[in-house]
Amino acid sequence: MPRPRECFEITARDPQSRGRAGLLTTAHGQVRTPAFVPLATKGTVKGLEPRDWRELGFDMVLGNTFHLMTTPGKQLVKDFGGLHEFMRWDGPIITDSGGFQVFSMGHGTIADEVKGRSITGNGGRDGKTLGITEKGATFRNYVDGSKQFLSPEESMDVQAHLGSDIALVFDECTPFHVTKDYTDKSTQRSHRWLERCLDWHAEHGPEDQLVYGIVQGGVYEDLRTESAQTIADSRCDGIAIGGSLGADKPQMYEVVEWATGVLPEGRPRHLLGIGDVDDLLRGVELGIDTFDCAMPTRLARHGVAMVPDPTKRWRVDLTGSPFRGSTEPVMEGCPCPCCREGFTRGYLAYLQRSKEQTGARLLTLHNLAYTARLMADLREALAEGRVGERIAELRAGAAPKVFHAPDGTPYPGAPPLQAPVAA
Ligand SMILES: [Zn+2]
Repeated sequence: MPRPRECFEITARDPQSRGRAGLLTTAHGQVRTPAFVPLATKGTVKGLEPRDWRELGFDMVLGNTFHLMTTPGKQLVKDFGGLHEFMRWDGPIITDSGGFQVFSMGHGTIADEVKGRSITGNGGRDGKTLGITEKGATFRNYVDGSKQFLSPEESMDVQAHLGSDIALVFDECTPFHVTKDYTDKSTQRSHRWLERCLDWHAEHGPEDQLVYGIVQGGVYEDLRTESAQTIADSRCDGIAIGGSLGADKPQMYEVVEWATGVLPEGRPRHLLGIGDVDDLLRGVELGIDTFDCAMPTRLARHGVAMVPDPTKRWRVDLTGSPFRGSTEPVMEGCPCPCCREGFTRGYLAYLQRSKEQTGARLLTLHNLAYTARLMADLREALAEGRVGERIAELRAGAAPKVFHAPDGTPYPGAPPLQAPVAA
């Protein structure tokens, strides 16, 4: 089948911004956009089961090629019938290419680099475990210390074994603190790797697997727009925006704006590794359809809950001493499994201090429910033509809407994709 595939339908547009709502169709079902995609890095969302994130209203999760190829290995997952069967999730899965992890091994903090938070010389380009050539990248396996090689073809082969619904092409995630010249050379190489990924996939890839290209170009407008144009002109089915997005949020928004200004309307767009509440709101205005980020789940494991408080970056750290005796719920009126059962801030603070897994699970459920509701709220506002107004309210600290079933039961997150069939 020729590429790009017809996989995305825009169902509503915001006349005031680039915001749009849509339906992304994959081999394992549809994804309502704009959507947040929880991380199932090693084949699960940490602490949860598929029924949990389905109940929270998520349509898709993100698996990590690098971790899954390292352990348990691509062949074992394939022997189980692919990643869906292995992890018992029958909905859409997107897998990243492994590039982000491979290229972060030299310095270990590329997540900070992407968001411009680190100032480490040349960005770790001379990291001892790192060797990049035109063929691919050599790295040291963190499990057994052996030398491993990942190329565009091998990354696509791993993702073919995993059988994800959406594969991302292998690229170099260029850090923030490299020169423009390096960023340019690296971006050009990533473009050549994109073509190799698409060639490999055309011959060997699963017929029903979508392939997303990745826009690079660092924080340079000419490189970003040129990269966005190159990816737009390629055969890829959807487009992700990756690499360094700048030193701060205004710069990140500018970089995303350059890219979405060039990208074709009809193809789905994913923003890699971004998921703070204010970033999701701005990302939707800039025309992003899907987002993934470790933030909601990672914060939860550190005892931090998401709340509608823009003055505190939409979060409250329950490990602080003020909460030891607090009988308040995590968030008033929240229908998530944590809040609706009446677990208190004081109890969650205690579970966190005691390193009880239940605490991490409850806060993960709460944070993901919050994020799911936020995105469902935005989708509804887009459909009703009032997203600009709604984003202003959410920015000012409005709580995401609580959705209800016809019988009045509140949903913990977004409503299910298909209305429940009456018994
Ligand atoms: Zn809650």
